[in-house]
Amino acid sequence: MLDPKSPIAWRFAQMNERFASAKAQGLYLYQQEAEKIDGMHVTINGREMLQFASYSYLDLLGHPKIDAAAIEAVERYSSGTHGVRILAGTIPLHTELERTISEFKHTEATMVYSSGFVTNYSTIAALVGRNDVVISDKLNHASIVDGCLMSRAKFVRVAHNDMAALEKALASVPPGKGKLVVADAVFSMDGDILNLPEVVGLCNKYEALLMVDEAHSVGVIGETGRGIEEYFDLYGGIDIKMGTLSKTIPSVGGYVSGSEELITYLKHASRAFIFSAALPPAQTAAAKAAFEVILEEPERVKRLQRNVEHFLTGLKARGFDTLNSVTPIVPIIAGDDERAWLMAKLSQERDIFVLPVVSPAVPSNLARLRANVTAGHTIEEIDRAMDVFAEVAKEVGVL
Ligand SMILES: *Cc1c(COP(=O)(O)O)cnc(C)c1O
Repeated sequence: MLDPKSPIAWRFAQMNERFASAKAQGLYLYQQEAEKIDGMHVTINGREMLQFASYSYLDLLGHPKIDAAAIEAVERYSSGTHGVRILAGTIPLHTELERTISEFKHTEATMVYSSGFVTNYSTIAALVGRNDVVISDKLNHASIVDGCLMSRAKFVRVAHNDMAALEKALASVPPGKGKLVVADAVFSMDGDILNLPEVVGLCNKYEALLMVDEAHSVGVIGETGRGIEEYFDLYGGIDIKMGTLSKTIPSVGGYVSGSEELITYLKHASRAFIFSAALPPAQTAAAKAAFEVILEEPERVKRLQRNVEHFLTGLKARGFDTLNSVTPIVPIIAGDDERAWLMAKLSQERDIFVLPVVSPAVPSNLARLRANVTAGHTIEEIDRAMDVFAEVAKEVGVL
C-alpha cells in the first residue's frame, strides 16, 4: 500500500496535478484517439485534420503491398510466435527480414528485436560493462541514455555534435578500457544530422566502437534513402548500425546490423533478444515488404526531400526559428511551454494536427511545435500548414 507521506506518493501527486491543470485549461493534447487514418489525413473527435505529427516519413502506412504481406503472414503463421527467438520463436520470415536489412545497410548480418527502444537499451548493455566507457551525445534518444545507465559502464555525456568535446572525452579514457561512442544519426527533437565524417575519424584515431541510431535516417536521408552513410557517401565507419521498424518502416520493432562476429555475440549476450518474445509474423512480414518498397519506389524519397526543402524554406521565410534542422523533423520554436501548448491547440482548432514538445524533453526556453513533414503531403497542404503556423504564432506572440 502506498505511504501517502513517501516520495513516491509525492511524485504521483506532482505529475497528476500538472496534467489536471493542463486538462482544465483545455491544453492537454496528448493521447488523442485517431478514429480514422488515411494517408496524411487523420480524424479525431469526428474532425478531419492534416497530419503533421507522423513518423511515416515515406507515407508507407497503408501501402497495399505491405498490408498484404502482413495479412498473408497472419494466415500462414497466426498472430504470435512460440516465444523467444533463441528457443522456439524463430520463423523463416525473421531470417528473411534480417537478410533484407543486411542488404539494405550493406552489412554482413542483422538481428531484429520486438521494439526499437529495447534494441538500444539491450544492445548497449550487452556491448559495454563495468570496465568500459560509453560516450553519448547530450541529445541522444532516451533509449540510448537508459542503455548507457543500465550497462554500468562509465557514462560520459558530451555537448551536442561538438567534435572538440568528443575528442576530449575519448582522449581522457584511461588505457585498457573498452570504448563505445553512440549517437543518433538524425537527432529526434532538433532534426539535425550527426557529423559522421569527424565522428568516424575520431573513433578510428582512438580505437573506439561506433554505434549509430538511424531511427530517423533510414528512408529519410541519402539519395535513395539508405541513411546517413549514403548521405555523407562514407561507408564502413559505423560498427553497429541500429534502426527502428516503427517509423519510416510502418511496423514495430528494431534491428542491429553489423559484422557477423558482432551479431553472433549479441544474439547470445543481449538480454532482450534472449528473454523477450520474437517479433510477431505480421510485423516481420510488413517490415520486410517496406524495405523492398523503399527501393522499388524511389520517387517517395525524392518527394520527401523536396517537401523538406519546401517546408524549411517556407518556415524561415515566415520568420520562424527551426534550429539546424535539415530533415523532416522540424522544430518550430515557441519559447516557453505555455506558448508551445497554445500554438499546438490553436493549430489543431484550424485542422492542422501538430504536437508540442516541452520541458523536460527539451530545454524550457526552447519549447516548440515538433512538425513532421512527409512524402505524403502535397505542396498545397504544406503551404496551408505553414500559413496556419504563422497565424497562430502571431496570435500568441511568437512572431
Ligand atoms: C523512436 C526512437 C527509438 C525507439 O524506437 P521504437 O521503435 O519507437 O521503440 C530509438 N531511437 C530513436 C532516435 C528514436 O527516435
